[in-house]
Amino acid sequence: MKVCVDIEGVRQVRWQEPLLQWGLVPTMGYLHEGHLSLVHQARQENDRVAASIFVNPTQFNNRDDLAHYPRNLEHDLELLREQVDLVWTPTPELVYPPNYQTYIQVEKVAQPLEGAARPGHFRGVATVVAKLFNVFQPNRAYFGQKDAQQVAVIKQMVQDLNFNLEIRIGQTVRENDGLAMSSRNVKLSPAGRQKATALYQALSAAKEALEAGQTEAEALRQQMRSIIEGVEGARIDYVSVAGPDSLEELDYVENGALFSLAVFIDEVRLIDNILVPHKK
Ligand code: AMP
Repeated sequence: MKVCVDIEGVRQVRWQEPLLQWGLVPTMGYLHEGHLSLVHQARQENDRVAASIFVNPTQFNNRDDLAHYPRNLEHDLELLREQVDLVWTPTPELVYPPNYQTYIQVEKVAQPLEGAARPGHFRGVATVVAKLFNVFQPNRAYFGQKDAQQVAVIKQMVQDLNFNLEIRIGQTVRENDGLAMSSRNVKLSPAGRQKATALYQALSAAKEALEAGQTEAEALRQQMRSIIEGVEGARIDYVSVAGPDSLEELDYVENGALFSLAVFIDEVRLIDNILVPHKK
């Protein structure tokens, strides 16, 4: 495994054997099984696998959140050692040198949900992902369904800007009690960790209600809200039943939907979602 800080080093390894297929797994580090499942998928589908570890300042709309984002580079590199061929660990100054001026703004699909709750977030995400694509020039790039809107935004950017690569999506990896794995889970107190199971419970309850015949989106949202509201110290940021591609709120669930929510558990902001597939 080659670890590079500067861009030239990455490019050199990437183009040593130009005919090999490369998969890229972008991350912000503090790695867990969710990240590693993407690495595993990338290994199965490519000759070589690269990862990036970069806590991207431009996608944080809150200085405190950025300052307290969990980090452990040594441990991350240990987890990746036998799994990937190349890791890029740039500094913020390398990615955004003085006089940096260019940002990518995906429009409609980036506006609701996380886009509304975290102004500027997807501008930062799209910008850094475009830069990663240009630095690595991978054949395939891997993203988690856990960040469903991020997937939609990146797919839109790839289509609109003609990036020559394939976006591959990995299923959300969960703890045994259903909590979606996240680097932010470490910020939960033991009591908060218990309460955090409410997110997946709410999503699962809405999915069951849909399967039992409830197709009214507002009733499904209300079902999710009532479960979260039953948890002391939980505060809803949003609850959504939206079109799986447009991410626009639905009136009725007729042909697939994305159930998603963002909840503060004792001031730790968690997100989760379930994709309800199109009917056959
Ligand atoms: P992050 O380090 O949080 O930016 O995540 C890096 C990548 O891992 C993103 O594509 C995430 O969607 C993905 N990811 C994060 N958590 C999970 C999870 N629990 N299951 C699957 N993928 C995940």
